[in-house]
Amino acid sequence: MPGQDADDFKPKRRARKPHPERVLKVCPLCATVNVSSASECFRCGWDGDFDTDAGRVQTRVHRIFTPDPRFREALKNGAKAVVSWILKAL
Ligand SMILES: [Zn+2]
Repeated sequence: MPGQDADDFKPKRRARKPHPERVLKVCPLCATVNVSSASECFRCGWDGDFDTDAGRVQTRVHRIFTPDPRFREALKNGAKAVVSWILKAL
């Protein structure tokens, strides 16, 4: 059968998981994470060189997605504690 030879077999390309450091950069002025394609920082307007160091980008991203430890503590104590924490944080 045409197209069924072992030589014709090609493994499907795995979808590449985008690494944050490839698509993000950090503003050196305000430390805001921006997408790599942005020409200027969306927060402060900086339009010079951005920090693209993979380790520092990962650190910033990690901080964004890691909740405040007090929030995590409130989560353990149930919905009332979470609402109370949010109201105090506002
Ligand atoms: Zn900035």
